[in-house]
Amino acid sequence: MQTSPAATVFPSGPSNLFYQSRLQRPTLDRAEGIYIWDREGNRWIDGSSGAMVANIGHSNPRVLAAMRAQMDRATFGYRLHFANEPAERLANLTASLMPEGLDRVFFVSGGSEAVESCLKLARQWAVATGQDSRWKVIARHPSYHGSTLGALAVTGYAPLSEPFAPMFTAMPKIPAPTCYLDRDNYTDAERGLRYAEMLREEILAQGPDSVLAFIMEPVGGASTGALVAPDSYYARIREICDEFGILLIYDEVMTGAGRTGRFLAAEHWGIRPDIVALSKGFAAGYAPLGAMVAARRLVEPVLDAGGFMHGYTYAGNPLACAAGLAVIREILDQDLTGNAGRMGALLKAEMTALMDRYPFVGDVRGKGLLLAFEMVADRETMTPLPREWNAHARLVEHAYARGLVVYSRRTRGGIEGDHILVCPPLIVTEPQIGEIMERLVASLDALAAELGL
Ligand code: PLP
Repeated sequence: MQTSPAATVFPSGPSNLFYQSRLQRPTLDRAEGIYIWDREGNRWIDGSSGAMVANIGHSNPRVLAAMRAQMDRATFGYRLHFANEPAERLANLTASLMPEGLDRVFFVSGGSEAVESCLKLARQWAVATGQDSRWKVIARHPSYHGSTLGALAVTGYAPLSEPFAPMFTAMPKIPAPTCYLDRDNYTDAERGLRYAEMLREEILAQGPDSVLAFIMEPVGGASTGALVAPDSYYARIREICDEFGILLIYDEVMTGAGRTGRFLAAEHWGIRPDIVALSKGFAAGYAPLGAMVAARRLVEPVLDAGGFMHGYTYAGNPLACAAGLAVIREILDQDLTGNAGRMGALLKAEMTALMDRYPFVGDVRGKGLLLAFEMVADRETMTPLPREWNAHARLVEHAYARGLVVYSRRTRGGIEGDHILVCPPLIVTEPQIGEIMERLVASLDALAAELGL
């Protein structure tokens, strides 16, 4: 049993550091595989891979060795002055893992920067090819694409974007395909098509010549709790984009690098996006790294027209790229993508069995090891629990006190719900899934007792 988190906070006095809230957590000491220890020796299972980042687990010796070797040579070289081998090799390896034609790689330091890069490359491509009227990027609600102002413009999550509304141009949104909430007589395939048609309607309403791109998370992350659309949705969205010459941007910041059981989630449906954003699992937390991967046909006109007017000091940092290269090799050599598929199926089955035990578990969803469950007051109607109960955050605390880290949010569609993401590193084993479930069940029991559920 863990000691209370408050007992292990370090430093004990006031700190100058601040994050989003006043939440205080114990100080990290070390981490290995799927486990994390604090300074008091308490151990947690990293049941959410941080924020769905630590895909290959912590302290992987091969990645650490690659980083040490690079550190002994050079940790920084500015891209306008020197090319560097780790960046070149990582770009080539990444391109080799993409769908046909998606072979130009641009490095950044995180997911928000990757999304910003996608938006700006798309716009510059339009200008370079004489399509100046195109600038609107249609997105979905709810969705999460990052914290910077450009990424917020396409993010459909009001609490994050509202305070800054005067500071950017909000982009048009269509509903995310929250089919699990729909109580109608349509089949799943029909629902998928109906949600996809909303894109077509929005394009027509906006004026097709003004629309530049559509951006989506192929499997939702924090915003929707691992929302997966019916298969019919994905192909129809691609068709609609093609009909109007609109670029399809897949934000695979969370889904990419194997998390859903394929290297890109796009592969599940055989979709070829025009631009892809990657980060999180791409360097798995060993370095701040992300990438935009774009079709050559988009990049060449931009470079010909004078260059991509966008870049970051740390783009292609040799140490970050050496880490990313070793991470991707580990994913390939250990077949962690395959393991995500196998272990994901097992974990999902165990999570689905929670519905027999807890009437307030209303839905279990996701792909590979990007999994979530949603807690509701009534499963039939999917009525959410009262907001003021803060059930998702309470469950996170119950789990935390039992040595399990999970990730939660409260939001969905126009209404609200509590969802919990259970997304361990892709190296997770069957016995470790047992450990996760044991702690999760104890946490759900504690929540049920606390809230009288
Ligand atoms: N896009 C998606 C789908 C995400 O899940 C996130 C982060 O959670 C981001 C973009 C932003 O990434 P970052 O926090 O690295 O800026």
